[in-house]
Amino acid sequence: MRKPIIAGNWKMHKTINEAKSFVEEIKGSIKETDVEAVICAPYTILKDLKEVTKGTNIKVGAQNMHFEENGAFTGEISPLMLKDLEIDYVIIGHSERRQYFNETDETVNKKVKKALEHSIIPIMCVGESLEEREAGDTKSIVKSQVEKGLEGINHEDIKKIVVAYEPIWAIGTGKTASSEDANEVIAYIREVIKNVSSEDISEEIRIQYGGSVKPSNVEEIMNQSDIDGALVGGASLEPKDFIELVNF
Ligand code: PEP
Repeated sequence: MRKPIIAGNWKMHKTINEAKSFVEEIKGSIKETDVEAVICAPYTILKDLKEVTKGTNIKVGAQNMHFEENGAFTGEISPLMLKDLEIDYVIIGHSERRQYFNETDETVNKKVKKALEHSIIPIMCVGESLEEREAGDTKSIVKSQVEKGLEGINHEDIKKIVVAYEPIWAIGTGKTASSEDANEVIAYIREVIKNVSSEDISEEIRIQYGGSVKPSNVEEIMNQSDIDGALVGGASLEPKDFIELVNF
C-alpha cells in the first residue's frame, strides 16, 4: 500500500509570523489519517516551521537545494544545511526552477542523488509544456525526464523518491489535466520506472499529480488508481483549503 502524500508548495510566499499562524490554524484539524501532509516552504521559514509542527503529523520540506555539500556557491543552500534543520523533504526540479533558474535533468539527477545520500526525501518534478502536449510528446518528454533524473540511482533508493507529475500548462493556471489523463501519464511513469528498476519498485514508489489541485477536485484526483498524492501551489496557502486537501 502506497501512503498518500499531499504536499503544499508555498513558493515565494509567507513570512515567519504568517507561517506560524498558518500552522496554529491547521494543526488541530489535520486528521490522524494515513495521509502524509507536507509543507514545502521558503528557506527563511524552515527552522520555525520545524518548531511549530513538532508533535503534529505535518512534515516540512524545502523547495530546492544545491548538489554540493559546501563551497563557493553564493546564495545556495546545501543538503547538510537542510539536514541541520532536520528537513524531511525537498522539491527537486520544479518547472519554475527549470524555466527560470536553468535547472536541467543533469542537475536534477545530481540533486536527487545528494538528497537521498542525506536521507532527505526528494520530490522529483517532471512534466511537459503545452507545446509538447499539443505535439503529442507528453510521454516521450516525461520518459526522458524520469530516466535522466533517476540515472545511476540504486533500486532500493529509487523507491524512497516521490515523483510529481506536473504538466507545466496546468501549474497556477486554473487548468487541470483531467483526472483520467493525469492517471494515464502517471501509470506510464510507473511503467518507465519499472523498466529502469523493477516491478516491485514501480509498485511501491509514490507518484503525485500537480497542477491547479484544489479542495473541489482533490478527491477525484486521489481516487485514480495510480495517483498517490498531490503537489499543490496556490491552494496550499490558505489554511482552510490546506485542511480540506489533506483530509480529502
Ligand atoms: C506547484 O507549484 O507545484 C503547483 C502545482 O501549483 P498550483 O497548484 O498553483 O497549480
